[in-house]
Amino acid sequence: MTAHHHPSDDILLSYAAGSLDEPTSILIATHLALCPACREQVSKAESVGGELLNDVKPVAIQDGALDVVLARLDEGERGQINVPAPAAVPHDNDLNLPRPLTDYIDGSTKSLPWRWLGPSVHYAPIASHTKGPKVGLLRIAPGTRVPMHGHSGNELTMVLAGGYTDGTGNYTRGDVEAADDGLVHQPIADAGEECVCLVVTEGVLQPTGLIARLVQPFLRI
Ligand SMILES: [Zn+2]
Repeated sequence: MTAHHHPSDDILLSYAAGSLDEPTSILIATHLALCPACREQVSKAESVGGELLNDVKPVAIQDGALDVVLARLDEGERGQINVPAPAAVPHDNDLNLPRPLTDYIDGSTKSLPWRWLGPSVHYAPIASHTKGPKVGLLRIAPGTRVPMHGHSGNELTMVLAGGYTDGTGNYTRGDVEAADDGLVHQPIADAGEECVCLVVTEGVLQPTGLIARLVQPFLRI
């Protein structure tokens, strides 16, 4: 199984540099667990970063510099998450979820606070933040047409089970789709298997059709 749709180079580089927000890091770590090609790219970026650090010329250190560095490390630890090293060890028997994700949901999706978003669509947040992007799981019954919608901010979707098709292509396990405020689409879940996606959303979805506008209150995830 190989993913056909990957995160952009920019996102992978930011991941390697440790500068992604937590929700996006969770999605990228989950993709890396399933995608050897992106894993290799991230590890190359990390080694280039290490080389660059090696090239930095030493400068005279002032008194107290160590304290400043240690204080910054403390800040970094508080502000940044430790995404576990990618490993494709399945935990969830029903969904075969990769390790970075199961670590965030206590090993199973069953106890998540699922809520009804619309006909045959359920959503559960997996990490709560007061600001910044939101991350959660979306379950869509086979063959369901998600209402046509646009986006008021960036959105990253990664398929964990089943698949869906929209105007940009077909997405199955491991695939990542990036949407920005220029994309208006109507994903349709593939037939046969429930589609489960990990979604990172910055803005709110903006429905464009009549029915979609009617269900808009439910789409605010
Ligand atoms: Zn990839």
